Amino acid sequence: MSERIPTVQATDAAETDRRTTPVSLATTGIYTRGISGVFQSIRLYSGIVLLGLYFLLPWLMWGDRQLVWFDLPNRQFHVFAMTFWPEDLMLLSWLLIICAFGLFLVTVFGGRIWCGYTCPQTVWTQIFMWIERQTEGERNARIKLDKSPVSGTKLRKKSIKHLLWLGIAWATGFTFVAYFIPARTLVIDHWTGQASLAAYAWIGLFTAATYLNAGWMREKVCIHMCPYARFQSVMFDKDTLIVAYDAVRGEPRGSRKRIGGKTDSHGDCIDCGLCVQVCPTGIDIRDGLQYECIQCALCIDACNGVMEKMGYARGLVRYASEHTLAGGKTQWLRPRLLGYGIAFVVMVVAFGYALTHIAPLEISVTRDRGALFTETKSGDIANTYSLHVFNKTAFDAHYEIELENRPGARLVGPSFLELPAGQSKTVVYQVQLPLSAIVSPRLPVTFLVEAAQNASINARVDTTFLGPDRR
Ligand code: SF4
Ligand code: SF4
Repeated sequence: MSERIPTVQATDAAETDRRTTPVSLATTGIYTRGISGVFQSIRLYSGIVLLGLYFLLPWLMWGDRQLVWFDLPNRQFHVFAMTFWPEDLMLLSWLLIICAFGLFLVTVFGGRIWCGYTCPQTVWTQIFMWIERQTEGERNARIKLDKSPVSGTKLRKKSIKHLLWLGIAWATGFTFVAYFIPARTLVIDHWTGQASLAAYAWIGLFTAATYLNAGWMREKVCIHMCPYARFQSVMFDKDTLIVAYDAVRGEPRGSRKRIGGKTDSHGDCIDCGLCVQVCPTGIDIRDGLQYECIQCALCIDACNGVMEKMGYARGLVRYASEHTLAGGKTQWLRPRLLGYGIAFVVMVVAFGYALTHIAPLEISVTRDRGALFTETKSGDIANTYSLHVFNKTAFDAHYEIELENRPGARLVGPSFLELPAGQSKTVVYQVQLPLSAIVSPRLPVTFLVEAAQNASINARVDTTFLGPDRR
């Protein structure tokens, strides 16, 4: 017996979605249908990994400190075994530039993969929509609920949904602040009312932002607020993989019986409208590439399911380049993609090198600008310097300070220096030279600072010794 596939007109479906915008208690005018498939599994598992990392990291320890901890009051940033200081901010700039290049590379290759699979807005919206489906039911049930007058059942369902949303939003805000205030301390202080006002304010702000963005605004953030959506087209070329409808194969669209219903006047699209009903931004992929499309591939999974039921080949809606859709071939090795790829790899290697070669000890020296030189009671010539020593290790250190490169020079000042982990100190020194050793009005001199416990931790800094011109 032949069977009919749903015959909702696609464009009508989108219109229906918009027309059914509820009058009360509804959070969005778009009612998406839940769908499963290969791409949704990828989104689900990548989302679980990303969320797991986000929520778990502040609870993991590295020795006696938090594994990832941005300790702003002490101006230290701990990431696994590494500790970064404000002096290392250049590395952060590089990291951001690398991320930007990574995004360009991925976008030129596969369009808005970032948006569809890993963007926090998408990942959090996914959880919120899942909660919505669990509490209010599938698409039709939600439309019916929103259209129904206020009742006990409606209030109960809506309240549970919003409470769960607020719970997730609070956990998100709390976790964010836990990257700056150790989570184990924050959780106690937060519930005993002893956390700082700033901590409560930031948690409140992030709770509100998450609740509004993922619960109420959803696709509106992607469509109206995210700048990335606006300039993505600049990065696309005709070989970029995009979620696309194969119009050559699909048109002319039209409903039909499941078995034996296809006629010569039919393309493969049965015009069921499922691809529109699952779309979180409420667009019809059959209208071509649109800036609202976040490439979540929900429409691919939906259409593949329909194609399987109809006994047609999958891929009427699929990842494809404009060239393949036009009957050509995707050119993978193209200059723009190669350029971004090479730049990205070079930057990652250079960054890795810089990261593994951060100096554990940093020193600098400044000559006293008040006087070029002075004469001591014994007739020697003296120069005054400020030596700045910064212990960038996670251990307390004991340093020896010596002079190099200047025979006959005497260092007046502490020859040992104790510095706790992550601390710096500026010490004033005088370098004295007998008049007979002043062979030039400008002589090089080098300060050497060496860790007493580990001679491999050392640093040198060159400066100039000024004296009278005796020629
Ligand atoms: S058109 Fe398809 S890929 Fe684009 S946002 Fe809608 S469902 Fe996702
Ligand atoms: S493209 Fe696929 S899912 Fe969309 S209306 Fe046509 S057959 Fe249905």
